[in-house]
Amino acid sequence: MELKPILWMIIPCYNEQNVLPVTCEMFLGKINDLAAKGVISDDSRILFVNDGSSDDTWSIIRELTLRDTHFKGLSLSRNYGHQNALFAGLMEAKDSCDITISLDCDGQDDIDAIDRMISSYKEGYEVVYGVRSKRDKDGFIKRTTAEAFYRLMKILGAEIVFNHADYRLISSRALDEFSKFGEVNLFLRGLVPMVGFRSTTVLYERKARIAGESHYPLRKMLSLAFDGITSLSVRPIRLVSVLGFIISFISFLGVVWAIIQAFRGQTVSGWASMTCIICFVSGCQMLCLGIIGEYVGKIYLETKKRPRFIVDERLI
Ligand code: UDP
Ligand code: MG
Repeated sequence: MELKPILWMIIPCYNEQNVLPVTCEMFLGKINDLAAKGVISDDSRILFVNDGSSDDTWSIIRELTLRDTHFKGLSLSRNYGHQNALFAGLMEAKDSCDITISLDCDGQDDIDAIDRMISSYKEGYEVVYGVRSKRDKDGFIKRTTAEAFYRLMKILGAEIVFNHADYRLISSRALDEFSKFGEVNLFLRGLVPMVGFRSTTVLYERKARIAGESHYPLRKMLSLAFDGITSLSVRPIRLVSVLGFIISFISFLGVVWAIIQAFRGQTVSGWASMTCIICFVSGCQMLCLGIIGEYVGKIYLETKKRPRFIVDERLI
C-alpha cells in the first residue's frame, strides 16, 4: 500500500447540466485539498461518466477536461443506467489508480466523508461503504420503500449493507477481482460484498440535491429493487418448491378426505373419484414445478460465471 495513493473519483452523470458546474468545483477542491495535505497523490483524477445525456452534460465535461488535468471524461453511446455507467467508470479507472470512490454528481453524498474513507483504506480496508446516518432529507415514500427494500433483501438472503447506496471506496485490487464477475445485470451494492476482502463502513449525512431532479422515481426504484433481488437470490424459486411440497401434502389430505366421504355415503356418485384426481394431479404439478425450478435456479447461477474463489494473500 502506498503512502500517497492515487484516487479516482467516479461520477456518473445523466442530464446533469444544472448541477455539474457547481459540484465539479467541490470535487476539484477536495482533490486539491487532499493532495496539498499529502493524503493522496496529485495524480488523482475526477472521472465523469456521461450516461447518454440528452442535454449539455457532455460538452460541460469536455470543457472541464480542457481546463484542468484533474478532470477526465468518458461518454457512453446511450443511456445505460446508473449502475452500468458507474461500472464503466470503475473499469476505466482500475488500472490507473490505487483507489476509487464512486459518488453522485448532484452533491448529495457529503464529500467530507472521503477523508475518513481514505484513512480507513490506509488502515488496511479495501472496501469502505458510505452509510447514511439518517434519512430525514428523503420524502416519506422514498424512505419507507427504501428501508423496506433493505429488509426484504436481507430476508431473501442477499448480503447488502443497510442504508448504503453507491457511495463507496474500492481499491483497485478489489476491482481487478470484481472485473472477473461475468454477469450483465449489475446490482453493485449486492455484488461488491461478494468480492470479499476487508471492509468497513463510514457514516455520512446525505444532503438534498443541489439542483435538478432525481432520476430515480418510484418506478425506477422498484425496478432496481426487483433487479437486485432476482440477480442475487434464487430464494423466490425455492419458495415455489416449498409451496409445491405444501400443496402436495394438502392434496394428499384431500384424497384421504374424499375417500372417507365416499365410504360414508355422503357424496354424489363420481364426486370422490373426481376430487381424488384433481388433488393428485395438482399436487404432482406443483411438486414438479418446484423441482424444475431448482434446476432453473442452478442454471441461472451457473450462467453468471462468477469466480469460484478469490485469493486474499499468498505466502508461497
Ligand atoms: N444517473 C446515471 N444514469 C441514469 C440515472 C442516473 O448515470 O440513468 C446518475 C445521476 O446523474 C446521478 C446518480 O446516477 O449522479 C444518481 O442518480 P440520482 O441522483 O438521480 O438518484 P437519487 O440520488 O435521487 O437516488
Ligand atoms: Mg442523487
